[in-house]
Amino acid sequence: MAAVPGAREHEPLSPHSWYGIGGRARYFLALEDGAALADLIARLTNERVPYLVIGAATNTLFAAEELPGLTIKLATSRLAVEGSRVTASAGYLMPKLAADTAKKGRTGLEFGAGVPGMVGGSVVGNTDVIDPQGRLHTLSAADCRLAYRDSILKSAKAGWVVLSATFETAEDDPSRIRDRIKEVQRHRRQTQPIERRSLGSTFKNPPGDAAGRLIDVCGLKGRRIGGAQISEKHANFIVNLGGASADDVLALMAEMRNRVFERFGIELEPEVRVIGRAPGQ
Ligand SMILES: Cc1cc2nc3c(=O)[nH]c(=O)nc-3n(C[C@H](O)[C@H](O)[C@H](O)COP(=O)(O)OP(=O)(O)OC[C@H]3O[C@@H](n4cnc5c(N)ncnc54)[C@H](O)[C@@H]3O)c2cc1C
Repeated sequence: MAAVPGAREHEPLSPHSWYGIGGRARYFLALEDGAALADLIARLTNERVPYLVIGAATNTLFAAEELPGLTIKLATSRLAVEGSRVTASAGYLMPKLAADTAKKGRTGLEFGAGVPGMVGGSVVGNTDVIDPQGRLHTLSAADCRLAYRDSILKSAKAGWVVLSATFETAEDDPSRIRDRIKEVQRHRRQTQPIERRSLGSTFKNPPGDAAGRLIDVCGLKGRRIGGAQISEKHANFIVNLGGASADDVLALMAEMRNRVFERFGIELEPEVRVIGRAPGQ
């Protein structure tokens, strides 16, 4: 791995984590250009080196002391507009995608203004991917099996890497699109603790209910362990008050799951991706 150009050893992960929490990566590589990625992924697979691709890590809790193998941060920022189709590289930030497409009079991506991560971690629509053997494929929205907080890239095609995604948009007046973006942001500010670092929704909503409501009814809003706190504003968010560790967050997650299970018999399923330890341990 030391031979991979630009790879750094024992890289601290907290500066790469939106949440500000992380151990280290054995090897770490930030890529602003995806051209060499297919060969690299094929090589890692051949040599049985584990790899993890991340974007802004707004949905990922780094819980291992040191992640084995290579952690690849995609910071690619290509944007192409062809008629109604907008293609953005995996490293494009969602709020920037919303703002930049609005400027071009394309509507449909305003929701991105409220999602702090990158395109690759959020995948929607036609998606260019690399499989573990380094081969390129294009997946349609149907191929991606997009579902509530889920896609095939989280199950059968885990380990496949998103290069870019294409979104179908419509035309509208940039000022009207900007107004809708402001509305998305106002709603988020009102309902979510965006003034603090978090990983967004901690658990998926169980069918017909909201995880936040169940956690709130258990009286857990404001519960604090170390530097981590269940938000007073939204009970499904765990905020980092400063200096929270992965252990603090995992302990709160275990308490939220246990209390909801004891009271309602519902097992909450984590929405955040915990790397390096099973949630609840
Ligand atoms: C305040 C707040 C609000 C949020 N609101 C929403 C919301 O409304 N809806 C929603 O769905 N999410 C929401 N989230 C969660 C999160 O922002 C999104 O899931 C986000 O798009 C993840 O992007 P990321 O770049 O941060 O992904 P990361 O956390 O870096 O990665 C997430 C997962 O995707 C994988 N991954 C990342 N990039 C690639 C790639 N190029 N190829 C293959 N796999 C990859 C990672 O390995 C990891 O498993 C919210 C989070 C916060 C903090």
